[in-house]
Amino acid sequence: EPEFDSGLAVFDAAVAAAPDAEFLQYFGTSQTFSDVDRAARALASALAERGFGRGDRLALYVQNNPAFIIGMVAAWRLGGVAVAINPMNKERELTYLLKDSGATALLALDELYAQVGKPVIDSGQTQVATVITCSALDMQDRADARLFADTERVRTDPALDLVELIAAGGGDDLPDPGLGPDDLAVLAYTSGTTGDPKGAMNTHGNFSFNAQTYREWTGLQAGEGILGIAPLFHITGLVGHIMAAMLVRSPLVLSHRFEPSVMLDAIREYRPVFTIGAITALSALAAAPGATKDDLSSLRVLYSGGAPIAPSVGDRLEGLYGAYIHNIYGLTETNSPSHAVPRGVRAPVDPESGALSVGVPVFNTVVRVVGADGKDVAVGEVGEFVTVGPQVVPGYWNKPEATASSIPDGALHTGDVGFMDEDGWYYVVDRKKDMINASGYKVWPREVEDVLYTHPAVREAAVVGVPDEYRGETVKAFVSLQPGAALTPDELIAFAKEQMAAYKYPRSVEIVDELPKTVTGKILRRELRDAVS
Ligand code: ATP
Repeated sequence: EPEFDSGLAVFDAAVAAAPDAEFLQYFGTSQTFSDVDRAARALASALAERGFGRGDRLALYVQNNPAFIIGMVAAWRLGGVAVAINPMNKERELTYLLKDSGATALLALDELYAQVGKPVIDSGQTQVATVITCSALDMQDRADARLFADTERVRTDPALDLVELIAAGGGDDLPDPGLGPDDLAVLAYTSGTTGDPKGAMNTHGNFSFNAQTYREWTGLQAGEGILGIAPLFHITGLVGHIMAAMLVRSPLVLSHRFEPSVMLDAIREYRPVFTIGAITALSALAAAPGATKDDLSSLRVLYSGGAPIAPSVGDRLEGLYGAYIHNIYGLTETNSPSHAVPRGVRAPVDPESGALSVGVPVFNTVVRVVGADGKDVAVGEVGEFVTVGPQVVPGYWNKPEATASSIPDGALHTGDVGFMDEDGWYYVVDRKKDMINASGYKVWPREVEDVLYTHPAVREAAVVGVPDEYRGETVKAFVSLQPGAALTPDELIAFAKEQMAAYKYPRSVEIVDELPKTVTGKILRRELRDAVS
């Protein structure tokens, strides 16, 4: 049973029990729980004066900055909802998200607002009536030249300034909004591979439940730090960073954006114990120039989520960190985790496919594996994961049809196919929509990628289907190489051919400098597919 009715109750309990405990560490400054409480109350009071109230949406369009958390708590304090927006979004995307969410207030980074936000608001297509901006330089002591060399404060009228609002104070006597588990907390958008992005309605119940999931699964203790490598707007950052820090009462180390050398310095300074992010981010961190095992040694609990881990990559990283890299699996629609590998346990690798397990369902969660007929498949057989549990969102914002088809009766059809072994471990084979159909044979890109990753010269690999007149589709691989490594496409094809059935091995290989990735570090097969079709 969740201990708290809402994300706000989790935060308020931290403020009451540990007001002076450090909560946010950001470029030389630290803010305690009560500092953040005061700041959020001041912002809430300014919003309330401008008519923002229960159920209203505050869009957050900032990087990993304390302002994000202050904004989220301020919205909750008034019974409102935070809309988490990717700061990389441009005008078209921002317009869509503001319109779709019906946000009436916007908290934005000043530069983003000047360049992107203001033209969108001025276009008159949104309902945004109140704009508050903050600078990336606010709430920090030392502007790291690696990130902030070109950053200046930009004032754009008539936006309000967050730091000035905080200095003005207020909001001490705001009434308790009386939030319950079914109230909406955050609209977190899916990136929309199959259509427009959908706002997954993450509730307070989802948040308070999964905050507990993180506390139990990480074993984190009060005061042990969390390194914020995932973007805060993404569900991994929202729950695995912010909510976990609130519930455990851990300091959360933030950096404006993920830059490995900056993160490495933050690890050296703050010695955080836990982090969670994409495997590509964990790899980049371990490969930061000058990173030693000693530097990385404070990170004892490491979770990788959002994308598959090739077993050979996991092994390499475990050597570099001197700790297990635990797999965690979930979607925006499951408020981050639905499965995880228990800490201190080495996840099994399926002997047949070579896939690494994503773990077992977390508490109170039931995951069925169903076939095309909607019936459960046998143990070991491949089907779609259908998840039911307290972390599953009730629906998509203003999209009843999408809700009815993806989350009928609260059961989330994940679009991921995989299987469960005899011992109850789950394995993701791939995403349903990424399957390649080569001469009628099903090829799962993951399996091919896992083999390519075992070649020592390969740094990253992504496999897609390309249209082929004769076979329908053929397998094509894009790879980037380890620094200084040399490898020709033919050599890699020969390497793969030796280890896979004829229909599976890539018929063509393209070597590129970098693979396209989302801001969360996921490799974008979709973009590669679009580039070749
Ligand atoms: P979009 O739907 O907009 O393309 P997305 O589905 O990538 O975005 P997320 O909710 O961030 O958005 O990602 C969920 C997906 O990530 C899952 O459906 C699954 O395919 C993949 N995933 C998450 N964790 C793991 C994991 N541990 N191993 C393999 N795949 C994972």
